[in-house]
Amino acid sequence: MDVLDRAARGERLEREELVELYRRPLAEVAAVAHALRLERAHPDHVTYLIDRNINYSNVCTVGCGYCAFYRTRRQPDAYTLSYEEVGRKVAELEAVGGKRILMQGGVNPDLPLEWYEGLLRYLKERHPDVRIDAFSPEEILGLERLTGMPAREVLSRLKAAGLDGVPGAGAEILVDRIRHAAAPARIPTADWVRIVEEVLALGMYSLASMVIGMGEGPEERVEHLLVLRELQDRALAQYGNGFSGFALWTMQLENTRLAGRLPGATAHEYLQTLAVARIALDNIAGHQASWPTMGFKVAQTALYYGANDFGSTMLEENVVSAASGNVRRSATVREIVRQIVEAGFRPAERNVFYEIVAEPDVDALLASPVG
Ligand code: SF4
Repeated sequence: MDVLDRAARGERLEREELVELYRRPLAEVAAVAHALRLERAHPDHVTYLIDRNINYSNVCTVGCGYCAFYRTRRQPDAYTLSYEEVGRKVAELEAVGGKRILMQGGVNPDLPLEWYEGLLRYLKERHPDVRIDAFSPEEILGLERLTGMPAREVLSRLKAAGLDGVPGAGAEILVDRIRHAAAPARIPTADWVRIVEEVLALGMYSLASMVIGMGEGPEERVEHLLVLRELQDRALAQYGNGFSGFALWTMQLENTRLAGRLPGATAHEYLQTLAVARIALDNIAGHQASWPTMGFKVAQTALYYGANDFGSTMLEENVVSAASGNVRRSATVREIVRQIVEAGFRPAERNVFYEIVAEPDVDALLASPVG
C-alpha cells in the first residue's frame, strides 16, 4: 500500500517511509497530516496557553555558537535575577490571568542546587497557583556535574521544592553528528533522552521539541522524530506519563556566531517537517504552531499542516529573540485569538496538558480597543 494511504489510515510509518514523505508533494502530505490532526485533537478548536518566559540568569559555560543569549560570568551584561525579581515577574503574569511560567537560564557554575531549591520554594509559597516548568536537560546535566548527584536525585529535590515539570527544550536535532558540529559542548543525545526520561518517570511534565535548520537533512529529521516517538512509547508504557505536546521551530541565527554558517530552514521546510511530525508522532496529540519564529501568517498556515495549537503568549521571551530581531516574540491573548479566528477555527485557552480550560468571548475580545 502507498505510504500516504498507510499514513491516512493512521498506521505507524517506519523510518524509510517517513523519509519518503519528504519526497512527496507537500500538499499531499499536508492533507494527510491535517486529517490526522482533526482525528487526534479537538477538531474545531485551536488552543493557546497564557504563560510567561523567565530567564533567571544568562550566565552559561556551554557556549553554543547559535546562542546569542548567553554571557560568560565576566561580561558586563551577565546577570542573575534575585528571588524577588523573579517573583515580581510571576506576579505580573498572574495579573493578566496566567498560571504557568517557563523558566530557563544557562549552565551557571556559581549557582548551587540549593539556590534553585530556594527559588522554587520562594515562588511556590507566594504563587501557589502558578505552575513552574523550568530548567532544560542541559541545566540538569550541569547540576549533575556540579553536585555529583544523578539526575534522578537532582530532579527529585527540585520536585520536592516545587518544580512541576521541564520545558523540554534543548533537543534541537537529536543526532550527535549534527548537534555537535554546531555546538561541540552541547548535551549529547543520550543524556538529553536519559534526563527527560527521568523527568517523565517522576511523573512530571515535559514537552517534546525540535529545531530544524542546523544542516540536517530528511534522514536526521526523521531520526529525531523516532527518538521522540520511542521515548514516548517507553514512557507511556513504563511510567504512564509522557510528553504532553510537541513543538517545532526553526533555528534563529541572525545575531549569532553561526549566522551564515548554518543554513537555517525555510517556511516550506518548516511546514513540511510539521506535517511529517504529525504523521510520525502518532503518540503525541498536541502539536504547536510556532508564531514566534515563523510569524503569524505562517503559523496560521501551519494549522492546516498538522498543528492544532497556537502556542503561548510567551511574555518576555529572551532566548530566541536574542538570536533574531525580525519576528515578534510575545503576543496578547487578543492577537492570538484573532489569528485563530482568521484561520477558521474556534480559539480555546488550554492548560499545559492540552485540556481546554476556557473559551474566550471572541466578539468582546476583538471589539476591545486594547490588549
Ligand atoms: S543554548 Fe543554552 S546551553 Fe547553549 S549557550 Fe545558550 S544558554 Fe547555554
